[in-house]
Amino acid sequence: MEPRQGDGVSCGAIAKTNIRRTRESAMPTRAFAASSATSPLAAATIERREPTPTDIEIEILYCGVCHSDLHQARGEWPGTLYPCVPGHEIVGRVSRVGAKVTKFRVGDHAAVGCMVDSCRGCPSCKRGLEQYCHQFPTFTYNGADKHSGGHTFGGYSERIVVDEAFSLKVPAGMNLAAAAPLLCAGITTYSPMRHWEVAKGQRVGVVGLGGLGHMALKFGRAFGAHVTLFTTSARKRDDALRLGADEVILSSDAAAMQRTAMSFDFIIDTVSGDHDINAYLQQLRLDGTLVLVGAPSQPLPVGAFNLLLPRRNFAGSAIGGIAETQEMLDFCAAHGIASDIELIRIQQINEAWERLLKGDVKYRFVIDMASIRN
Ligand code: NAP
Ligand code: ZN
Ligand code: ZN
Repeated sequence: MEPRQGDGVSCGAIAKTNIRRTRESAMPTRAFAASSATSPLAAATIERREPTPTDIEIEILYCGVCHSDLHQARGEWPGTLYPCVPGHEIVGRVSRVGAKVTKFRVGDHAAVGCMVDSCRGCPSCKRGLEQYCHQFPTFTYNGADKHSGGHTFGGYSERIVVDEAFSLKVPAGMNLAAAAPLLCAGITTYSPMRHWEVAKGQRVGVVGLGGLGHMALKFGRAFGAHVTLFTTSARKRDDALRLGADEVILSSDAAAMQRTAMSFDFIIDTVSGDHDINAYLQQLRLDGTLVLVGAPSQPLPVGAFNLLLPRRNFAGSAIGGIAETQEMLDFCAAHGIASDIELIRIQQINEAWERLLKGDVKYRFVIDMASIRN
């Protein structure tokens, strides 16, 4: 990637000047941040850079609440940098554009997902798989910010400045609040279902009905598969059938689990906490695939024989590349797919996180970011 004004690059003198320029022109921005793993989120002021020639500035209208926000801010994953401003399901209105921006105009609706940059030159980036960048993508929060030299801040804030190459176009006519969760929950389930070619005639399992799980049900139905939800929550049954499941199995019901053993082509596991992965491997038929997208903090033991007999695949998948994220947004617009959301004010975020931990959300919290301005 070409170094640009504002990047703190190589030669000391230049770097110093650039850092000073960045600081002088940084915009104070209202945000909600965690100052440690144990502190609640609270109002804070962060700085956003002045847009470079290829940047757009987005006034954030809505930001979805992903379980990853909570894992990261509470230090459940290693390496959290504080203050931590989470949020990577961002939809807003373009308020400024750099001189070389071609994809957006002021007033357009734009979206940002889990990444704001990558090396753009490695084999993964060249294939449009920026999420698997060999140099690690710059995540929207807790990433190494190439511009400030600090770390990146996410969408629980009033505005964000992003290179247009990592910004998405929101298709016309979409409900903006219900579109926000597509930027993570949507693409994280769409991408593996596309990669493993989920289609009509297949039996597909979805483990866990939360933000990711409810999108997996919707995509499974849209792709024509026979979809089964595995859940720990009997109360979610009717919602699951409405959202796209043909069948719901309580994972604690041993007899029901036994009846469907060895019958699934593809299972997507979206569970955020500790659970027995072997119970779902046993549901796969010969050559079936279980894809883990949930990211619990503790390792999940796998019994060897659950993979060996009959030959089964256990895989993982992370979000999706920028082009595929745009494809997914366009697919959702064409098929009338959006997230089922509960709109909250930013001041309700700590309570929302507690409810998320109890599985008490239908099925994604989205923050109305106007609430941060008043
Ligand atoms: P969520 O809304 O909290 O949903 C998680 C669901 O998992 C719960 O509703 C519950 O469903 C089930 N569950 C939770 N704890 C469980 C436990 N201990 N045992 C069994 N089931 C349990 O979370 P989310 O936002 O969808 O995120 C899910 C996971 O995916 C998180 O770990 C997140 O960090 C990860 N993630 C990964 C990627 C990626 O790129 N791979 C992207 C985004 C998120 P039931 O009540 O139906 O059992
Ligand atoms: Zn997420
Ligand atoms: Zn790369």
